[in-house]
Amino acid sequence: MQFGILRFGRSEVSGGVIGVDLGGTNLRGALFSEDLDIGRRLKQPTRRHEGGEAVIGRLVGLVNTLCMEQGVAIEDIAGVGIAAPGPLDVSRTMITSAPNFPDWKNLPLKARVEEALGIPVVLENDANAAAVGEFARGAGRGARSLIFLGLGTGVGGGIVLDGGLVRGAHGVGGELGHMILLADGPLCGCGNRGCLEQLASATAVLRMARERLGAGESSALIDRDDLEARHVFEAAGEGDSLALSVVDRMAYFLGLGIVSLVHTVDPEVVAVGGGVSESADLFLPRVVEVVQERVFPAARGRVRIVPAELGDAAGMVGVAWEVLKSVQ
Ligand code: ZN
Repeated sequence: MQFGILRFGRSEVSGGVIGVDLGGTNLRGALFSEDLDIGRRLKQPTRRHEGGEAVIGRLVGLVNTLCMEQGVAIEDIAGVGIAAPGPLDVSRTMITSAPNFPDWKNLPLKARVEEALGIPVVLENDANAAAVGEFARGAGRGARSLIFLGLGTGVGGGIVLDGGLVRGAHGVGGELGHMILLADGPLCGCGNRGCLEQLASATAVLRMARERLGAGESSALIDRDDLEARHVFEAAGEGDSLALSVVDRMAYFLGLGIVSLVHTVDPEVVAVGGGVSESADLFLPRVVEVVQERVFPAARGRVRIVPAELGDAAGMVGVAWEVLKSVQ
């Protein structure tokens, strides 16, 4: 990997930039060139049960290891971007209420990592970071606007308009998983009912399949006592009618959500990522169909609804891009 020289306020910096993804399960980091070419990547368990201080120590250790292994001095790194779970405070210095990190409330994450490393740190919500990554180097390359939907256990979202993230006035802009689609729908972890997250996520697919199996419908899934969403998608791929119907319903709600998003911000691209998107070929055509049926004619057939391209690297790419933007 060849590094050029970044010139900005601090000094001349030639070591590139580091992106870190602070996940509930894994802590991952990568060293990027200033052109955002991804270099060395590292991954280790987050072990969040050990508490915030221990995780910060491991995060700092991971950054130092990346530099050491590549023979780059830490002071030659432009900065570290951290994609972090849950809403952040408006100034993006700490995590305010991530369910996976209950003891992190009011922990000054950005300041602590900056103190430990002596270089700038940019903190970003993980779904927003993935949206930026897909915009800069993934499914949104060349576009000016993109909406990212990350479908996993929950639904994360991010909106990039005219090259910049929409964070909103209170830090909750882009919480697309909590768009309400069914007023009396299933209860969501946020306290509302009928959020997109409860209708178009791995959790939703599993719940819908269980409900229908419980009602006595026949399916190849009936014999599974370890049922997971991926089994439902597998069965749908094999033509199981219950599984196909569940996937169709999930796609229907995702389509409705996207119609509302198109009518709100009219993006050029909607990128669908997250673990569920591995089965995109099973549900995305139906999503596109629902959008075509319902969206206003001016956008019909023109909004690109596509699978995300960067997989689990999207967040790291996004925060690395934000660091570079912040120092240039
Ligand atoms: Zn919700």
